[in-house]
Amino acid sequence: MLTHNKYPTEHYRALDAAHHLHPFSDTRSLNAGGVRVIVKGEGVWLTDSDGNRILDGMSGLWCVNIGHGRREIAEAVQQQMAEISYYNTFFKTTHPPAVELAALIAEVTPEGFNRVFFCGSGSEANDTILRMARTYWATLGKPSKQVIIARRNAYHGSTVAGASLGGMAPMHAQGGLPIPGIRHIGQPYWFDHGGDLSPAEFGLKAARELEAAIDEIGEDKVAAFIAEPIQGAGGVIIPPDTYWPEVARICRERDILFVSDEVICGFGRLGSWFGAEHFGMKPDLMPVAKGLSSGYLPIGGVLVSDKVAGVIEDTGEFNHGFTYSAHPVCAAAAIANLKVLREEKLVERVRDDIGPYLRERWMKLADHPLVGEARMTGLMGALELVPAKPSHRRFAGDGSIGLRCREHSFRNGLVMRHVHDTMVIAPPFVLSHEEADELIRLATLTLDMTHADLKRDGLMG
Ligand SMILES: *Cc1c(COP(=O)(O)O)cnc(C)c1O
Repeated sequence: MLTHNKYPTEHYRALDAAHHLHPFSDTRSLNAGGVRVIVKGEGVWLTDSDGNRILDGMSGLWCVNIGHGRREIAEAVQQQMAEISYYNTFFKTTHPPAVELAALIAEVTPEGFNRVFFCGSGSEANDTILRMARTYWATLGKPSKQVIIARRNAYHGSTVAGASLGGMAPMHAQGGLPIPGIRHIGQPYWFDHGGDLSPAEFGLKAARELEAAIDEIGEDKVAAFIAEPIQGAGGVIIPPDTYWPEVARICRERDILFVSDEVICGFGRLGSWFGAEHFGMKPDLMPVAKGLSSGYLPIGGVLVSDKVAGVIEDTGEFNHGFTYSAHPVCAAAAIANLKVLREEKLVERVRDDIGPYLRERWMKLADHPLVGEARMTGLMGALELVPAKPSHRRFAGDGSIGLRCREHSFRNGLVMRHVHDTMVIAPPFVLSHEEADELIRLATLTLDMTHADLKRDGLMG
């Protein structure tokens, strides 16, 4: 039997290369370079199999919000496993973790949200959204309202519905996506698409693409608009201040559902329990996952407003569900996670303490010769790498500058992710001030090293 971390790195690399196909990876080039083996996590720190300590600036994959290695979660999970490790919620049955978690979620959700449909991931949550939104309108006697409007460069998961709702062209290029009945509009990405418009003007313009799409398709054919409060995987795209109020106006005036994809922003990432609250939005449905359990075990759900839940009650049987809907052990992990968030006031900490503290320092990175824009809301931040300032001009090519920067970052002991030539971070909420200072120091060192490379290669200017 394999036991953890008993072998040299090469052992894991060789077996990984032989047997493990990684998500979103070029298998051949990954195996040629060799994977990094992570063996331990504590707070904001990771340790790899060579003993390097790395500051996890991405909270794993936008999810480990309460930090790694929390005993509270391990103990809750162990206890639940010993009680009832699995039972379904299909056959007129439930179990205490499902009930307690559903009730606890209702306590932290905005007014008018009292129901949750459980599933295993953010992707499954968005598959549920597609079916629930269409079923909602069919039940109301408007079965023609089927089209879901989404945005280019959005991320809503990797199942067929999730990837179709998402606006990632490379994902659509494989497997014949998107499925019919989905329309993509532009994203509120001022740095890339703003042109000569001010952010305020551009925000209105981007929002009005929604209105134009509804008019073109016909309001009688549109079921819903889905969007992330801040696009995560797309590159931490923080819309101009004018964007969400204008979307809110359009959703008020048109009879469509608004779906706020809270898989990243939900449960505190922006310093409010939900991203929609941060932006003053009133959604009808909220898919959640990642932050629900801080990634300790896989669990997701759709938070359903009373307005939608009432109609779904009229539907009769909703023919949808998963073996692992409300899995008791995953639910126990989520309950323990929500208790930690509450008892340690971590959402407030993001809003009032570590969020502003890190932001003040992060925004100063905009002074670096390689950085065209720095932005941060809550604990989600981005840096746009540019060849010359002040300018919105990008480096030529395919985002390989961001990749070079990420490689430096990892070697320096900081996980930053790259999205093309945008560097992004989303650190755990438990990041201390000293660790935030260290994050900034490592990010600065990384920018300096990347900049030196690019100057040497004649790519700056
Ligand atoms: C990660 C993510 C998803 C998909 O969640 P999975 O658990 O990976 O299926 C959906 N929406 C958003 C906004 C995400 O960031």
